Parts: sequence; C-alpha cells; structure tokens
Amino acid sequence: MSGTTTTGRHFLQIPGPTNVPDRVLRAMAAPTIDHRGPEFAALGLEVLQAVKPVFGTAQPVVIYPASGTGAWEAALTNTLSPGDTVLAFETGHFATLWQEMATRLGLRVEFVPGDWRHGADPQAAQERLAADTAHEIKAVMVVHNETSTGVTSRVPEIRAALDAADHPALLLVDTISSLGSIDYRHDEWGVDVTVAGSQKGLMLPPGLSFNAISEKALQASKTAGLPRSFWDWQPILAANERGFFPYTPATNLLYALREALQMLDDEGLANVYARHTRHAEATRAAVRGWGLEVLALDEREYSGSLTAIWMPDGGADAVREVILREYDMSLGAGLGKLVDKVFRIGHLGHFNDLTLVGTLGGVQMGLVRAGVKVDPNGIQAALERLQQA
Ligand code: PLP
Repeated sequence: MSGTTTTGRHFLQIPGPTNVPDRVLRAMAAPTIDHRGPEFAALGLEVLQAVKPVFGTAQPVVIYPASGTGAWEAALTNTLSPGDTVLAFETGHFATLWQEMATRLGLRVEFVPGDWRHGADPQAAQERLAADTAHEIKAVMVVHNETSTGVTSRVPEIRAALDAADHPALLLVDTISSLGSIDYRHDEWGVDVTVAGSQKGLMLPPGLSFNAISEKALQASKTAGLPRSFWDWQPILAANERGFFPYTPATNLLYALREALQMLDDEGLANVYARHTRHAEATRAAVRGWGLEVLALDEREYSGSLTAIWMPDGGADAVREVILREYDMSLGAGLGKLVDKVFRIGHLGHFNDLTLVGTLGGVQMGLVRAGVKVDPNGIQAALERLQQA
C-alpha cells in the first residue's frame, strides 16, 4: 500500500480541457464507421448543421481534426496574402501567440500594446482604422475570451469601430474559451471568421477545431495568397455538401459533438450563458470574500468561463501545487507574463452549483494551507450568490 490512491473524481477545473459529460463519453464509445459510407454522410450532415446555432450563424462552419491552433492558422491562411497587414491586440498570452503565428506566416502585424487586464480597446481600434485611409489593414484579430486572463473583449464594439471607420478589413475572432459558454453571435456581430475548439465550452475532449466563415471571408479566400493545403476551406466545403470530408475525419469526436450539441440545445443557449455568468459572479464573490483580487479590471469584460486570481507578489504556483496534492484538483497556471502571478479557475462546460462549491471549497482550503492570508469565510459570499434566485 503506497497510500497515494485518490478517491472520488478528480476536479479538472482548468479553463479547458473541461470535464467531459458521461453522456458524451458514452456517445464516443461506439464503433468507428466507414467515413465514405452513407451512415457517416448522415452524421456529417447532421453535425455540420447542428453546430451552427452555437456560433450564432447560418453560414458554413468547417470542422478540422486539429486543436485550436490549427483553426487559427486556417483563419489566417484562407483569407490573407503574404505581406498583408493585420491589426491585433495584446490582451494576453493567446493573443500574443496568435499574432506570433501571423508574423511567422509572413503577415505584418500591428500589435496594440495592452496590460493583460483589459480586452481589445475599441477606441484604439477605431483610431487606428480611421487613420488607415489606404486600407492597408486587411484583418483585425481579436481573442474574444482571453483564457490567460479571464477577460472578455467586447467584439460588437470592435465591429462598431470597423463600421465607424468605414473600413473593409475582415474581422477574425478566436472564441476557443468562450464558444458554448459566453454569448456569441457570428452573423449578428459581423464576424468574418470565428475560430473555436472542442475542449472547452463544447464539453468534448481536445481534437476538433472550427472556422465559421462569412460570405466576405469566403470571397477573400478565392484570392488569398498565403500557401495552404490541409487547411484550405474550398475542398472541405465541397465535400461537406454531401456530409463528407476530404481526409479521414475524427469520427468518434463527431459522435461526441452530436451528443454535446444536443445537451446544449436541451438546456437552451440562453440558459447556458446565464449559468456561466452566474457561476462567474459567485466565483468573483468568493475571491473578494477571501480578500483577493480578480485580474480583470473592467466589469464589462469579466469572463463567464474562467476567473484569474491576481497574486502580484507571486506564489500562485505554490497554491495550485498544494491544491493538486491535497485535494486532487487541477487549476490553471499563470501563462506568459503571468507565470506564478495568477492562478485560474475554470467554471465552464459541464458544471453546476455543487461543482462550483466543491471547486471554491478546494481553493479556499488550498489558500489557507499554502499560507496565503485570506478570510477563511470568503466562500460564504459565493454561497449567498448561488442561493439568490
Ligand atoms: N486560443 C485560446 C483563447 C486558447 O485558450 C487556446 C488554448 O487554450 C488556444 C487558442 C490554442 O488552442 P489549442 O491549445 O487547442 O491549440
């Protein structure tokens, strides 16, 4: 006997990958079928249609057997040409990685500096776009929910900035940690390419990623000059018309997607978003109850899917380590500039009031155990929020 056996379920409370519902796991545990046969075609047609409401779109959605990084690359290579200028915002680690990718692909990136505590600044966007009278900027790249900071950018205001400047640039938005958790409307907000991944709000394992594509983006893809092959939308969209893919699709993940979309539809997207907002509010109440600070500074930009707790003097990694060792719960680490200065609580996906209470209970016990000075009754504020109607 080693005495190291854990009992009960591990708490996977990183901001993705998230806990996969048993229903989805069971749906995946079905035989893999012929991906060129009629049964697959029915599955393909069904999921390609059923996925659209989550994006808030009636336009095509391409599904890749890839992580979100692949869908980032697809969004850029399908719409842009070597040397094109793109406008991006330094909202955090993922915005930084995406613009680094753009640079590596041969694009010229204008990266608006940020403090990692705010979202993309609509005012800065409007000023830059209005000054670009020659329309050299071909795309604006925004990370809707910055997973490294728990800050949600106001995409409709970025759209409004483009419109106010009467600027034709494409709007490319990463919704990897917001889709299926935070209200999002590809068509209504005039987004040209929405990038998403399977492993967060969609409650699936990692392995699928998505591009929702506007008509304007589709037109741009016809002349876009960046090299692409696997990521090319055109052969995929052609095969998708009959429910197929031009390569071997991730069949069992598509079973999972069908099931997860059914769950989201059963709950109702408005209820899904309200549930996430409420759990985020309760989490912030606990953080403040403990006497700690939320990283996000602007209440209009609080994330519904995760909360980053700000420990400017460091020590966040020690807290996470204690919590993993003592309570078998994984929390998100600080990334990039925020290493050891934040830890992140994921409260998205397959998640309910008691998951939150367990999560916050583990965080509170871990903080105390790690020697962080906190009010040991902080969690009470979260319980009170949860008990409100
Ligand atoms: N963008 C955001 C906002 C993310 O949170 C992540 C991953 O967590 C990525 C992009 C990269 O996606 P992936 O790790 O699936 O390649």
